[in-house]
Amino acid sequence: MIKVALNGYGTIGKRVANAIMLQPDMKLIGIAKTSPNYEAFVAQKMGINIYVPQESVKSFDEAGIKVAGNIEDMVKEADIVVDATPNGVGAQYKELYQKFSKNAIFQGGEKANVADVSFSSLCNYNEAIGKKYIRVVSCNTTALLRTICTLNKLSKVEKVRATIVRRAADPKEVKKGPINALVPDPASVPSHHAKDVNTVLKDLDIITMAVIAPTTYMHMHLLNVTLKSQVSKEDVISQFLNTSRFLLVRGKSKVNSTAEIIEVARDLGRIRNDVPEVVIFEDSIYTKGNEVFLMYAVHQESIVVPENIDAIRASLDLASAEDSIKITNTSLNIGK
Ligand code: NAD
Repeated sequence: MIKVALNGYGTIGKRVANAIMLQPDMKLIGIAKTSPNYEAFVAQKMGINIYVPQESVKSFDEAGIKVAGNIEDMVKEADIVVDATPNGVGAQYKELYQKFSKNAIFQGGEKANVADVSFSSLCNYNEAIGKKYIRVVSCNTTALLRTICTLNKLSKVEKVRATIVRRAADPKEVKKGPINALVPDPASVPSHHAKDVNTVLKDLDIITMAVIAPTTYMHMHLLNVTLKSQVSKEDVISQFLNTSRFLLVRGKSKVNSTAEIIEVARDLGRIRNDVPEVVIFEDSIYTKGNEVFLMYAVHQESIVVPENIDAIRASLDLASAEDSIKITNTSLNIGK
């Protein structure tokens, strides 16, 4: 059993922690929290060991939350750390992971140079095998990479032009906006997502544009992909149907929006309404010669969870890409 520690128990961290607990080859030794907030209370209720900075022990004690030790103790005990702290904080923790010679998985909010490799399970698992520091790219980049690498198996992807409609905030974030505007983000083109895709697919010709929209549920991507050869709509549909981590929804079933996708997740009783799959609107798939057009939705809170689990296996060379993806999918009920 691989001992995994989780530093930064927020939107991504709590989901990765849950996922680690569901893996047959991993054990969650604990999480690190800095403040004794509701997330710490819930973690305690779930029987998870909570580690805190030395100076915070008193405030956790006063809040009635049992502390298992300080963050250094947690890192020392682990075989690998998943760092899901806020943007840029992970880079500050790298020194601690290095001090105890521990492998670490970072998130997309960190700069690419925090790690030896930026990671996407379907694109470059093999490149990440044995790497001490791996960065799982952001939610939007994960969706783009999954989609591009899947189409690339059908016919070589020569060019990608993508428009990203981004959720303004995660559901728990009360201070973010806008609540009544569409905001180009950034106003200039390309957005940073193209550059992030190029951290994994170095030579790909990709341009992205992004707009922030007042919604919390999911992002939406509008893609135009040029392939080396001509493909049919049926080819594209069967390629996605035969690749895990995608779901296709049809207008006929009345799932025509991000709200309805989340409602289906609720009805299925999925934990936290999570949808780690890229959800493709099947009716949007259109082909013209070498070009493919499609629209899909991305659940920003959960899409990177399976990739974090695969990154742990890649870093410690525990399984092949195929085996890891299979174990992760089965344990997390992906595609069900
Ligand atoms: P978050 O704010 O929800 O969670 C971060 C957690 O880290 C919080 O619980 C916070 O209390 C804790 N924390 C803060 N400072 C800390 C410290 N010094 N030591 C330990 N813990 C500390 O953030 P998030 O949305 O989960 O984002 C985490 C990372 O995941 C970022 O790199 C982000 O870019 C990336 N990411 C976020 C999303 C998303 O949509 N939320 C999607 C993909 C990737």
